[in-house]
Amino acid sequence: ILRLGTAAKPTVWTEFSRLSQQNEVVNLGQGFPDWLPPKFAVDSLVEAALDSASYPHQYTRTAGHPNLVQQLARRYRAHLGRDIDPMTEISVTVGASQALYLCLQTLVKPGDDVIVFEPFFDLYVNQIKLAGGNPVFVPLRFVPYNEDENAISGGEWVLDPETLKQFISTKTRAIILNSPHNPTGKIFTRDEMEYIAEALELANPDCVVLSDEVYKYIVHSPPKERAAEESLFCRGHVHFASLPGMWDRTITISSAGKTFSATGWQIGWCIGPQRLMAPIHQLLPYVQFCASTVVQEGLARALPRADEPYLGHESYYDYLRAKYTKKRDQLATALKAAGFAVPDYDRTPGGGFFIFARIGKEIRDQIPASRILVKNDAAPGGVARQDWALCQWLAEERGLLCIPASPFFSLESSEAGKSDEFVRIAFCKTDETIEAAAEALSSLK
Ligand code: PMP
Ligand code: GLN
Repeated sequence: ILRLGTAAKPTVWTEFSRLSQQNEVVNLGQGFPDWLPPKFAVDSLVEAALDSASYPHQYTRTAGHPNLVQQLARRYRAHLGRDIDPMTEISVTVGASQALYLCLQTLVKPGDDVIVFEPFFDLYVNQIKLAGGNPVFVPLRFVPYNEDENAISGGEWVLDPETLKQFISTKTRAIILNSPHNPTGKIFTRDEMEYIAEALELANPDCVVLSDEVYKYIVHSPPKERAAEESLFCRGHVHFASLPGMWDRTITISSAGKTFSATGWQIGWCIGPQRLMAPIHQLLPYVQFCASTVVQEGLARALPRADEPYLGHESYYDYLRAKYTKKRDQLATALKAAGFAVPDYDRTPGGGFFIFARIGKEIRDQIPASRILVKNDAAPGGVARQDWALCQWLAEERGLLCIPASPFFSLESSEAGKSDEFVRIAFCKTDETIEAAAEALSSLK
């Protein structure tokens, strides 16, 4: 905790949970689905719980329940195009969060640099600090589609290879890549992933890419160059470890939470070469003996069922993609009508749970000036800027909870000036919740 220093303050999550409890709000804040997991997944969990022959309620193998690591090895063989040894190349963890934690703890020495692309999922920065590393922020550049004096447009977040080269050095021990991306919904293109692979030449020879792929089954508009490509699993998603030469320099991280609408199951994993997994296997028993056996067994039973036809779709994964595409469009339409600028998903690939919407001029004019630059310990820089003030006002006065963008940026970076132009809005919510949000948004016009 000492390593966190001032970070041990209230966070955006504590502040906005408080607002959601004090006000009656439609909650499009935190990214968790507000519906039940698919029935076959719940059935799998119940069957696992009742199968006394396999001792599902006792400890299991620390690095992962045998049935689950075998299922994961089978799937990742198809994803990565190589054989995966279930016993030495996989670690099962308590969610993707713990997988990240274990990776950073085993890789980073005090003083090492770890690159994060900005904006970033806020967990990364403090996990890097806990491992004694320095977070190094590589800004993604926001490129508006078009802009004139009277209109604010949506746009794309792009990785500029020259910027990456500027920040990478022999001190760089790890690069955290997150695609599909929280908070922007960006899908890193194959070209961008190739820049990252090339830039590794400039890093510490032991530099590893930590590829956080928790939203990989929620690619709702694939990059154009891949649209026609149909792989058995994860259509439209590029696994960084599948790039030439990258298996040996990548740890792939994921979890079951987003895919099975079961964020509370908290089963995650990391997959990589034995030399990178062995230290994690060594550290794991000192962190906890094992992740929940019964949930691991339930997931192992659910995985093959997810490949079967599901509610009129070829598989559960196809259903999931269609479901999220519809929700994304429903929310994007309401946001546009209210005066937010949103990505054009026909030209900008998208994935994940969130729309990163840009605050239009008309909305900006409605934010009460008395709320802007007011002291707020949880806000980056200690004051509520435009995005923060808007989200507070929306929650308190319009009954809609969204998350301000600034906590996903560092204060020092070049793109940080942009950070208060956006809000993050979750669409992993029932149609009724999104309709209620649309109703609240309509009051902005
Ligand atoms: N990475 C990203 C990008 C996320 O958005 C989240 C979850 N919210 C996680 C990791 C953590 O996932 P888990 O719940 O499996 O720990
Ligand atoms: N990943 C989720 C989100 O971004 C949960 C965040 C959290 O609870 N810290 O909304």
